[in-house]
Amino acid sequence: MKRLLLLGGVTEALAMARQLGPNHIYSLAGVGRVPTDLVCQVRVGGYGGADGLAQFIGDHGIDLLVDATHPYAAQMSQNAATAAQQAAIPCWALRRAAWQASSLDDWREVADWDELIVALAPFKRPLFTLGREPLQHLNEIPGHQFWTLRALDNYPGNERCEVIGARGPFLLEDERELFSQRNIDVLISKNSGSGATDPKLEVARERGVPVLVLKRPELPVVDREFSTAESLMQALRGDFL
Ligand code: NAP
Repeated sequence: MKRLLLLGGVTEALAMARQLGPNHIYSLAGVGRVPTDLVCQVRVGGYGGADGLAQFIGDHGIDLLVDATHPYAAQMSQNAATAAQQAAIPCWALRRAAWQASSLDDWREVADWDELIVALAPFKRPLFTLGREPLQHLNEIPGHQFWTLRALDNYPGNERCEVIGARGPFLLEDERELFSQRNIDVLISKNSGSGATDPKLEVARERGVPVLVLKRPELPVVDREFSTAESLMQALRGDFL
């Protein structure tokens, strides 16, 4: 049977990994939880760039690389496309569709941190849900702002920033309480596109709170792209499943 290397990073990747047999490898960066109950092999940690990944592909007789990393994990997606080309195997990717704003939403796209800071200036109580990047800027918080920063793990904040360590998915009711208790007046989010919508975006809409959305990175063109894990798994049937 042919051998698959699945690069994980999103929830659907784990669901896919659960369907893989012992010949296949599920690869994780090691930033999140590592499952211990899979039939397939699990590999944790980076490869040392595209060259290292291409070497791994050759050494382990991989026939197909599947990129199911997060839409903002642009480095790994680029490494995957480059390494597959170097190793002369196909690369497929799960590319989640982006969330779309409705007429009731006030979403403002920002390209990067500099644009984000400019767009943030009129607000007082932002809620950051971007991961750890804002932690590097805790000493730059303007005097009129108090930040609430939600990340996967707990980190020290300061007198102008509360850090909440919490892993989703989050319930609508809990998100409502978070916005209300902290008096959030702007939400900062990636456009991850998991599921049809996201409770924090629903709450922002309900409360008329603007959302600063970090622009999605450009991702490389690969041999086949799928918008759902189901369609990708369907394509694997026969040779890999
Ligand atoms: P990134 O910048 O694209 O990748 C950084 C490095 O992490 C890569 O160069 C690679 O190291 C290693 N890596 C990433 N995914 C890997 C995988 N599946 N298996 C083995 N090594 C991997 O990614 P990131 O934004 O730091 O995210 C790190 C991981 O968290 C990714 O797997 C991503 O899917 C997941 N994640 C990211 C976000 C987000 O918002 N960025 C959200 C949820 C989950 P080497 O170059 O040494 O191979």
